[in-house]
Amino acid sequence: MSAELGVGRATKRRPGAAVGGLPVADSRPVLDDGTVLGVRCTACRYPVAQVGVPWCPVCYGSVELARFATSGDVWSSTVVEIPVGDRRPPFGLAYVNLDDGPRVLVHLDEPAVLPLGARLRITGTDAGDLTAARIDGGSSR
Ligand SMILES: [Zn+2]
Repeated sequence: MSAELGVGRATKRRPGAAVGGLPVADSRPVLDDGTVLGVRCTACRYPVAQVGVPWCPVCYGSVELARFATSGDVWSSTVVEIPVGDRRPPFGLAYVNLDDGPRVLVHLDEPAVLPLGARLRITGTDAGDLTAARIDGGSSR
């Protein structure tokens, strides 16, 4: 048997350019000039926080570039208690419904489970992931 698993065999795994494979698309939202980049359907207005989407995922209509607000309401949140990649626990994650657009995943500025509807603002990025902080004055804990 070969010592290198998978070498020379067709595989569904896509290792990415970092380990010699083909580039893999990065589906994370992009923060640009104080807005979240994405697209919006020209027919049904459905928002997607990802650029390069070829058509609307709802109605297959054409899409146009869109910029979304960086503020929104917490849809769900959690504290991760295990290491993930380079991140060390505990760290907080939340899904945020942006005020004029889609739902995005953000890393919280502190590990906390937030009440549903808590107001967050995206403050920047950390290793390509969006980061956010609470802006409604409520306690995070
Ligand atoms: Zn559509």
